[in-house]
Amino acid sequence: MLFGYPISATAANWLHECLCEILCSIHASIQAAKTPPPWPEIIPDPYRNRLQKRTGLKDRLKTYQIAVEQLTIAEQERILQALHDQNEIALLLSCQRNCKAITDLPTLIREPVKELFEFAFKLLTDLEIRDKHYKEIYDAVPSHTCPFCGCENFDAPRVPREALDHYLAESKYPFAASNLRNLVPMGNKCNSRYKLAKDILTRDDGTRRKSFDPYNCIGIRPSLENSQPFAGTVTTTGQVPRWQIEFEQNTEEVLTWDEVFHIRERYEKDVLDPKFKSWLDDFKHWCKSANILPNSDQEFSDQELVDGIDRYATLYEEMGISDRAFLKAAVFRMLHTHCNNGDRRLISFIRNVLIPPTKK
Ligand SMILES: [Zn+2]
Repeated sequence: MLFGYPISATAANWLHECLCEILCSIHASIQAAKTPPPWPEIIPDPYRNRLQKRTGLKDRLKTYQIAVEQLTIAEQERILQALHDQNEIALLLSCQRNCKAITDLPTLIREPVKELFEFAFKLLTDLEIRDKHYKEIYDAVPSHTCPFCGCENFDAPRVPREALDHYLAESKYPFAASNLRNLVPMGNKCNSRYKLAKDILTRDDGTRRKSFDPYNCIGIRPSLENSQPFAGTVTTTGQVPRWQIEFEQNTEEVLTWDEVFHIRERYEKDVLDPKFKSWLDDFKHWCKSANILPNSDQEFSDQELVDGIDRYATLYEEMGISDRAFLKAAVFRMLHTHCNNGDRRLISFIRNVLIPPTKK
């Protein structure tokens, strides 16, 4: 992904922590053959006032408790272990820990877990935890863009809200469904067209894979240096390069990101192909306004052209993520490299864009 979110946005995770504490207390009582404390005493002190009127939570905890009481000690321990492991988000994403999915647990407990944590997830909105979490992230990201694609813009905090993705899918890992550490603001396209309920932890064949940690990620940029200027398809606006989209590091995290979000395909089909011609036109207008475009072709040396592309690429490199500047920067950096290496065909192609043959 292109950048990460500040971990401080997940600090107000009290509802999830409180819920985990209550579940541990229920398990401990049942294992000791005691009756768990009644509602609202079972709510840890600091949160009791805030939660005691939430009877929806009370009812779902009761259903959970009744289900656990019917299971063996060994089964109860597996559930408790899954509760713990599914929330080791950082270790799971880096493949340093594994966890059981809900389908690996006794049938009897599956629905009660799902319903309990689904309810807790909704409570995040009611208790205004979700909005504070989003606002902190929105404020910390100056470009207000989706870090998974870099192309979708985030709206300012308001209702309706931006999509909040369960990074570890709630259908498989429901114990993490209310954990802010697992909840990630995401652009709507990334969320509802690509990520969906895909399992970020395992490939289709069931093997484990590493994924970027949205709250502990430096971010990477694409490079187009090895693209071939005249080897791509001919679109309605003309010939485009054969794009070779590479990333600074070629890690397993990058591979998972591309597999889940179709990054290379989207950059090529949605941005690079349709934008190439208009970006060259933008370059022409910039050359005019920067006074580096002479009246005649003869007054314009190849070196001036190469230097102009370099300045333009640098300008967009400095703009960062906003308005897909990082992709435009990569295109012009690639064009600069090829021209600087003496690609005659490319030099005259760009010359013809800047000073069309009829005006020569
Ligand atoms: Zn996105």
